[in-house]
Amino acid sequence: MRPAILNPLFAEIQSLEGVGPALVRQLARLKIGRVIDLLWHLPVMAIERVVTDRLDESLVGRPVVATLTAVSHEEGYGRRPLRVMARDGGGTVIELVWFGQTGAWARRLMPIGEAKTVSGKLDRFGMSLRMSHPDVLAPGQAARLPLREPVYGLTEGLTNRRLAGVVTAALKRLPALGEWVEPSVMTARGWPAWADALRAAHAMEGGEAVRARLAYDEILANQLALLLVRRDTRMRRGRALVGDGRLRDMLAARLPFSLTAAQARVGEEIAGDMAQATPMLRLLQGDVGSGKTLVALMAMLRAVEAGAQACLLAPTEILARQHADTLARMLGDMPVRLAVLTGRDKGRGRKELLSALAAGEVDILVGTHAIFQDEVVYHDLALVVVDEQHRFGVAQRLMLTAKARTHPHLLAMTATPIPRTLELTNFGEMDASRIDELPPGRQPIETRVMGPERFEALVEGLARHVAGGGQAYWVCPLVSGSEEGDEAAAEGRAAFLRGALGDDRVGLVHGRMKPAAKDAVMAEFAAGRLSVLVATTVIEVGVDVPNATLMVVEAAERFGLAQLHQLRGRVGRGPGKSVCVLLRGDELSETARARLALMRETNDGFRIAEADLKLRGSGEILGTRQSGDAALRLADAEQVAQLVGMAHDDARLLLDRDGGLEGPRGAAARVLLYLFERDAGVALLRSG
Ligand code: ADP
Ligand code: MG
Repeated sequence: MRPAILNPLFAEIQSLEGVGPALVRQLARLKIGRVIDLLWHLPVMAIERVVTDRLDESLVGRPVVATLTAVSHEEGYGRRPLRVMARDGGGTVIELVWFGQTGAWARRLMPIGEAKTVSGKLDRFGMSLRMSHPDVLAPGQAARLPLREPVYGLTEGLTNRRLAGVVTAALKRLPALGEWVEPSVMTARGWPAWADALRAAHAMEGGEAVRARLAYDEILANQLALLLVRRDTRMRRGRALVGDGRLRDMLAARLPFSLTAAQARVGEEIAGDMAQATPMLRLLQGDVGSGKTLVALMAMLRAVEAGAQACLLAPTEILARQHADTLARMLGDMPVRLAVLTGRDKGRGRKELLSALAAGEVDILVGTHAIFQDEVVYHDLALVVVDEQHRFGVAQRLMLTAKARTHPHLLAMTATPIPRTLELTNFGEMDASRIDELPPGRQPIETRVMGPERFEALVEGLARHVAGGGQAYWVCPLVSGSEEGDEAAAEGRAAFLRGALGDDRVGLVHGRMKPAAKDAVMAEFAAGRLSVLVATTVIEVGVDVPNATLMVVEAAERFGLAQLHQLRGRVGRGPGKSVCVLLRGDELSETARARLALMRETNDGFRIAEADLKLRGSGEILGTRQSGDAALRLADAEQVAQLVGMAHDDARLLLDRDGGLEGPRGAAARVLLYLFERDAGVALLRSG
C-alpha cells in the first residue's frame, strides 16, 4: 500500500483549493488528473521579468515590474473596465485596467501623484500600452518577486497564470520525504532535497542541478524496479538444463560451417545460465546476420536433450514461418519434433497440434504471440526464446510462468543495436551477451549515396542486375509518418518498376496488406519468382533472402539511422557482394548529410546506434516511443545517458545491502518507488 505521507500528492486535482470543473477539464487535456501529475508538469522555459521605470513597445508581451504614478482614474460601468492612467519614469502614459472594481478601490490602491510598484504583463491596446489586472505591490514586496516567470505547456482556455496558480497550491502540499539519494552524491553534485528541487524547478531556478536531481530520482526508481523484477525471477525455482550434448553434436556435424568464436562464447554464457536452477534472463544482441538463430537453436536443443520443451516467439507471422523453415532446414532429419503455430492456424490442424504439444510430442514450438494463448498448454516448457520483442515486459513474463511447471529460462534476442545506456534503461534486469563478429566470408555491404539526378542510371543498373538473375529490394520512403502515404508511394514505385522491368518481375508489400497476402508475395520473392520486391519498412526485421544482393532505399534521408541499418541488413546475407544504394532527395540538412555519410562509412551497428542516440530520443531507437512501464516522464535521453550508470550501481547497492530496502535510505527508496508508481516493484519486495 502507498505510504500515507504520499496521499496528498496522489489526491485528485479537485482537492486543491479553487480548482473547479472547468479547470479539471482543461487539465485533463494535459493528462493532469492528480496533484502529482501537476507537480511533474514542469515549466518548459522561463521569461525574465523586466524591472524598469521606462516602458516601451519592445517590452510588449513580457512580465514587467514598473514604477508608475497614477494621473487619472476612470470609473468602469457595464462592460467597461475601471481604468487608471499612469505615467512611468520617462513620461510615457499607460493604461491599467481592472474589471469588476470601483473607482474608490482604485483611488485607495493608486492615489493620484503617488509612485507605486506595479507588476503584470505588458500588452498593447490600440495605440497605447496596457496592463490588465496588474498587481500593485506594497513597499518591500517588489524585492521578493521572482525575477523569472515559468512558462508551462498549456491547452486552450488555460492561461499560464492560472496554471502557475494551481501549481503553487500543489507545491504547498509537498511532504518532507526521507532522502533516497546517497548523501555524498548530493554534496558532490550540489543537489537540493527532493521537495526543494521540485519547488526550484517550477520557479525555473537552480539550473542544471535541479533538473538533474529530479531526472535522477526517476531513473533510480526505474532501475530499482527493474532490479526487483530481476531478483524476483532469480528467487523463483527454475530448473537446471544440462543435456547430454547428443543433439547439439548431431547439429554441429550437419552444419556446413563451424560456429564463429563469438557464437561459441555466447553459447557458453547461455549454457552456463541454463545449467543453473535459477531461471536465465539473458539478452542476446548481435548485429543483423551475425547468426543469432543458430545460437538460439543450440540452446533449444539443450532443453530438448534434457527432456523438456522450448519455444521461439517471433514478432510477425512472416518471421515465425521463416524461423520455422530455417530451423527445419538446419535440423534436417534429426530426431527433433518442430511445429509452428500462429493466429492463422485454425480448425483441426490446430487442435491436433495443441494436443501433441500438451502430450509432449512437440519439442520445439515456433510462433507468434498465439503460442502463449490460454488454450495452449505445454507438456514441459523450460526455455523461451523471444526474437525482436522490445516490449516483452514484466506482464508477459508473468504469463510465461503460468505456462510452465517451473519458471522457464528466457533468452531475448535483438538485432537492434542497443547502446549500453539504453540497455540499462529498458533491459536493466537482464544479463547481456553480444555477438560482435559476423560469420567469415561475409563481404561488407558497399553503401553508396546517390542524388536524384542518378535515378535513371540507377533503374538501368537495376535492370541489368535483374537480367543477370539477381534480386533486389526497393524500399519506399516514409511520407511524414502517415501509413497511407507510405502505401501510395510504394504502389506508385511498384507500378513504375513494372513498366521498366516487366509486370511479373515486381512484387509489392506494405503494412496495410493482409498477413496472408503479404506472406504470399514474400514467398514468391524468396523462391526467386519475383526479381524486385518493392516495400515499405515492413521488411525491416529478419527477412532472409541471400540471393537479394541489391537494395535501394528511396528518400533515405527520411529514415532514422538505426532503421537504415536494419534495412541494409536485408542484403549481404549470402556469399555474393551486396550493394545498398541510398537515394537521397535534393535538399538535405546538415544532419541528414552527416547521417548518410556515416552509413556509407561504416557497417558497425553499435557505432551507428550511439550516433543515433545523440540525434534522436531514446524511445525511438527501440522502434516507436514506448509508453507504460518503461516511459520516463521527467528524464530526457541525455539525462538518461549521463545518469543511468550511477543509478544502476546505486540501486544495486541499496538492494544488496542488508538483503533489501532496509535502513533509513532503503525506506526512503521504497517511498520513491511509490512516488514514481513503480508499486509492482515494491510488491515483489514483499513477497520475496
Ligand atoms: P541474425 O538472426 O543474427 O540476423 P541469422 O541467424 O539469420 O542472423 O544468420 C544469418 C545467416 O548466417 C544465415 O544464413 C546463417 O545460416 C548464417 N550463419 C550463421 N552462423 C554462421 C557461421 N558460423 N558461419 C557461416 N554462416 C553462418
Ligand atoms: Mg534473426
